[in-house]
Amino acid sequence: MKSRNRRRPQSGLTILLGAIILIFVVVAAAVGIKYVTGSLSSTDGKKAAKEKKENKDEVKVEGIEISIPKETVRAGEETQLTVTVTPENATNKELTWSVSGAGGTVTKDGVFTPNEEAGKSTVEVKAEASDGSGASASVSVRVLEAIDPEQPMVAITYDDGPNPDTTPTVLDALEKNYAVATFFMQGVNIQGNEDILKRSYAMGNEMANHSWNHPQLTKISTDQIKKQLSDTDALIQEACGVENPILRPPYGAFNDTVKSVVGKPIIIWSLDTLDWKTRNTQSTIQSCMTAKDGDIILMHDIHESTVAGAEEIITGLQEKGFQLVTVSELYQYRNGEYGNGSVHYSMTAEEMKKNEAATASETSEEETTTASEEDETAAQ
Ligand code: ZN
Repeated sequence: MKSRNRRRPQSGLTILLGAIILIFVVVAAAVGIKYVTGSLSSTDGKKAAKEKKENKDEVKVEGIEISIPKETVRAGEETQLTVTVTPENATNKELTWSVSGAGGTVTKDGVFTPNEEAGKSTVEVKAEASDGSGASASVSVRVLEAIDPEQPMVAITYDDGPNPDTTPTVLDALEKNYAVATFFMQGVNIQGNEDILKRSYAMGNEMANHSWNHPQLTKISTDQIKKQLSDTDALIQEACGVENPILRPPYGAFNDTVKSVVGKPIIIWSLDTLDWKTRNTQSTIQSCMTAKDGDIILMHDIHESTVAGAEEIITGLQEKGFQLVTVSELYQYRNGEYGNGSVHYSMTAEEMKKNEAATASETSEEETTTASEEDETAAQ
């Protein structure tokens, strides 16, 4: 009995081994045949002749053009490049991509993703024709640091501009430090200052609506509200291509009517620097330094005293470990929900809970006017 018991598994093992060897032989044969086929075709005389003829008729690439929707992108985020290869009938339009510095990747379809290490640097994204024509093109891209949703972040916002005398000072400070902010602008001030918007948008800043000329939206008709917003939207779209930007109502004033007609998220603030009132650079800086994770900070880029502190505020917050993001990035990275007429003050953990509770028990709301943005900031 003992020996029989031992023999059975042995014969089973032999069959198994046999099967494995058989599979191995079959696979090896298949691979071998494929290999032989491959080497046969590459030395095939007829095919070589045909290739030669094709080379003669080959249309070489003469030009490549690359464009990017925004010259500034965030590390880790995808951007679709638009690539045009001419002439249209070029035989081989395939491109070889390369990214300078800390680099990134470009897919066959032109989707560019900068590496995290490329944050706070400018890289060249280059495409070269693969047909030996030597045609190439490149585009320079500013890369902002990747956002870590687990780390502290704040959104700096500037209202009432643009102002050609003061706004560029803020833009210079943001640009130098690879930081971004959100600009809630009055349509009346955008007119004639479109170049400021274009520069600002290309730097990665958020272009946002602050009405046409600063009326209290709770005091005008719904048709007037709509016109205040749509006229400003149109100028922002014309300058930057941004559709339906977010809204900060003048004075932070809104009611149920405003909420029901604006068709956009309403962004208020959680940290008021009172810069419009103090007109004091040091006091504005000190106020910003009290920021906590998730805050939306209110300032006005039309005051000399405010823009004078821009660089110190930006670098100060960065040194404190805050990632500087736009309002929409704050909501995107913290999974906040935007809606038409939804109201947002900040994206602190505490506020997120409050928002959830408020949404659950939302009934009729009293008119809300946040006591800031005094009349003196009203449009002239
Ligand atoms: Zn304002």
